[in-house]
Amino acid sequence: MQVPLLDLVEQYASLKDEFMNEIAEICDSQRFILGDKVTKLERELAEYCGVPHVCGVTSGSDALLIALMAEKIGYGDEVITSPFTFFATAGAIARVGATPVFVDIQAETYNINPELIEAAITSRTKAIIPVHLFGQCCDMDKINAIAKKHNLIVIEDACQSIGAEYKGKKAGSLGDYGCFSFFPSKNLGCFGDGGAVSTNSSERFELLKTYRNHGQGSTYIHKYVGGNFRIDALQAGILSIKLRELNNWHDGRARNAGIYRKLFAGIKNQEEVILPGLADYTTRHIYNQFSIRIVDGKRDSVKKFLTENGVGCNIYYPLPLHLQECFAGLGGKKGDCPVSETIAGEILALPIYPELKVEQLEFVVECLEKALD
Ligand SMILES: *Cc1c(COP(=O)(O)O)cnc(C)c1O
Repeated sequence: MQVPLLDLVEQYASLKDEFMNEIAEICDSQRFILGDKVTKLERELAEYCGVPHVCGVTSGSDALLIALMAEKIGYGDEVITSPFTFFATAGAIARVGATPVFVDIQAETYNINPELIEAAITSRTKAIIPVHLFGQCCDMDKINAIAKKHNLIVIEDACQSIGAEYKGKKAGSLGDYGCFSFFPSKNLGCFGDGGAVSTNSSERFELLKTYRNHGQGSTYIHKYVGGNFRIDALQAGILSIKLRELNNWHDGRARNAGIYRKLFAGIKNQEEVILPGLADYTTRHIYNQFSIRIVDGKRDSVKKFLTENGVGCNIYYPLPLHLQECFAGLGGKKGDCPVSETIAGEILALPIYPELKVEQLEFVVECLEKALD
């Protein structure tokens, strides 16, 4: 049996005719940049996320970048974030010239630990970027309270968590900005790169639209230095079709997570596996990844065994960002973020995509049990 970590072919096949019609319609119109398809998608995303405004952009990385640019965050400013995230989170901070300040995570959720944030705040701190990792939100009430007290902007990195819920509210509706990625492996993925920024503020929405188009206020009159962060009509058309199915796909992933939890409850060597935790505030986890921890130093041998037996798995993320070479100048060292460092050595993502069959999930857990033997 083969169980790939992710296989999008079945999902694609189920909607292929709709995609082809949409692509043909857009090609016939020869209108590829922004336009009606993008506006339509933005309205649908806003409704889905429970926010008044969404601005479509070129990628999740650019979503983070443009939110920082709109806040004029730059050289000399500090932005607090998690070291246990995809590189783009901290990359965006560095690209505007600001300094990423890494605050360790909670073991249960893999998300930034709100109790540690205040100690990292200085007079230069301008923003916090909580990352809703793997499909579960951060503890946003605590983070927002700290931000309010210290007058900081909150930019949610919701790139892995569109549709995830915190106390019944959607990711991206909880901070000043929400950043989304439509990279193909996200729960809502397009046919290339794409992203979006949500906001509750109409002023911020206007700023975002200006910044995504080279800071252009009116034609060829530039108020700011922005960039080309425009999502294209083809991606928007594809995403509108997929958005209609998104909740079903989320449900399929959650069902698979439930099956894993039952199966893992029955294995030998249970003490060597730690399943992803669900915070009490989490009302919906969208399981972009089902990342377990394998303790006792066995993670790498388990990964090798699974791979050799046809089970796809991967490590998100092997090296926390405070230890990356490109950030060596910030002086980060081993021991600064001990929880992130430990978990980076234990984490392993298993196949969780909605089309998986029960037999495939059973096979994954059987292989894992053998690997631990
Ligand atoms: C995917 C991702 C990004 C970047 O999104 P792209 O669309 O690939 O640029 C940023 N942050 C996190 C947490 C991500 O998972």
